[in-house]
Amino acid sequence: MVVKSRLSRIYYRGKFYAYPMEAGEIINNLGKTESLLCIGSYLRAKLRPHRNPLNLEDWLTAKFGRRLYRTFFKTYTEKVWGRPCGEIASDWAAQRIKGLSLSSAAIASLRLRPRLGSRPSQSKVIKTLIKTFRYPRLGPGMMWEAATDLIRARGGRVVLGARVKAMDYNAESGHWYLQVKQRSADESADGSDGNAQHGPYHQIISTAPLSEVVKAMKVPLPAEARAAAASLGYRDFILVALILRPSVTFPDHWLYIHDPALKVGRIQNFQNWSDDMVDNSGNVCYGMEYFCFKDDALWGQSDVDLIAMAERELIALGLSSAGDVVDGCVVRQPRAYPVYDDTYQKNVGVIRQALSDHCPGLHQVGRNGMHKYNNQDHSMMTAMLAARGILCPNSNLDPWRVNQDAEYIETVELDRRDDVN
Ligand SMILES: Cc1cc2nc3c(=O)[nH]c(=O)nc-3n(C[C@H](O)[C@H](O)[C@H](O)COP(=O)(O)OP(=O)(O)OC[C@H]3O[C@@H](n4cnc5c(N)ncnc54)[C@H](O)[C@@H]3O)c2cc1C
Repeated sequence: MVVKSRLSRIYYRGKFYAYPMEAGEIINNLGKTESLLCIGSYLRAKLRPHRNPLNLEDWLTAKFGRRLYRTFFKTYTEKVWGRPCGEIASDWAAQRIKGLSLSSAAIASLRLRPRLGSRPSQSKVIKTLIKTFRYPRLGPGMMWEAATDLIRARGGRVVLGARVKAMDYNAESGHWYLQVKQRSADESADGSDGNAQHGPYHQIISTAPLSEVVKAMKVPLPAEARAAAASLGYRDFILVALILRPSVTFPDHWLYIHDPALKVGRIQNFQNWSDDMVDNSGNVCYGMEYFCFKDDALWGQSDVDLIAMAERELIALGLSSAGDVVDGCVVRQPRAYPVYDDTYQKNVGVIRQALSDHCPGLHQVGRNGMHKYNNQDHSMMTAMLAARGILCPNSNLDPWRVNQDAEYIETVELDRRDDVN
């Protein structure tokens, strides 16, 4: 693990804003008039609060005021989700933004007046503002390589490149059987066409998307549950990795690109996560992140076109010069984000009920496995709770409660002495 100092900024209307935000910088960048207007709009929202905000726009406006919402939330959030904030369920904000956010940091700074360089007077600090973190030297995949080694060392079997196509439960024996397709016949254990049956199993812990699990389920399920699963939506994601000579560089891990004129939503600088994530040629690698749907033209664009677009946008941002880019590659990640629309909660409820009634021993965990905006910690915690629940059936552990409680992980207020240095 390497220990890194956290740095991410927002790029909005040609200016960079530190994240967490700093009062002096906000006032400098927005100007005194706009800052005062933001405070006025915030106070208006507090004096006449929206009692029951159901969509993201109402939720954010109620919490931060319309002006801060428009400045620091609207454009980026709409890039991420590909739909107006008025059509995104407010519980995404409750899970993602929680009590602390860019705007709350901004408001806190504005409210306290700029006392630059001073430490907060309260003894509490919000955990998302932690200044340093530990990061695996070659990225998070190292954790799963280490986990695989441990499982194999203890006699467990790890099968990679295998897709579960069908799941069946034999009620008489109480066993599950899985139809699995190996990515290529070469990789299949038996050298056949790659189709194999795995099982019998008493328990299954699944991170496969809820919609996919219901589709693969051979156990009869109510038609309502099948319809609910087919209605779940996902946001897809393209990462264009540009390898370039760093004629201009930036120290951030992530830059959030709010500018609506550019398609890129976020830029990662891999070297800033860990020096070992680039070679020693002197070149750097930036991950240009694009959010889209698989039906969008963007998804179908050739890699060459996507790399050219990413290069143009990087130059437009002033983060590279013509001729800097030496190579690039594209990673398309379908179903990167579970969509929170008006109906998702009802649909997930219907599916959960059907799986609980008809599929004993099946435990859905993780992000798409629960159709829940879980981060990596949440996802691992759901899996750990499911495993503990299997080992101790009376323990009453409920993975569905992870990331539901506003106090969970991200917003928990910690005593500064305990956690932050
Ligand atoms: C762009 C992006 C950035 C992110 N950044 C962060 C971050 O900085 N910090 C953070 O904490 N979280 C981050 N996350 C979230 C984090 O990646 C997820 O919370 C976490 O990976 C979810 O873990 P999971 O096991 O549920 O799902 P995944 O990691 O997606 O794993 C699911 C696995 O199940 C497999 N699978 C699916 N269907 C089948 C099937 N039918 N048969 C066999 N296998 C199947 C998939 O191939 C995959 O390997 C980010 C997510 C995205 C998309």
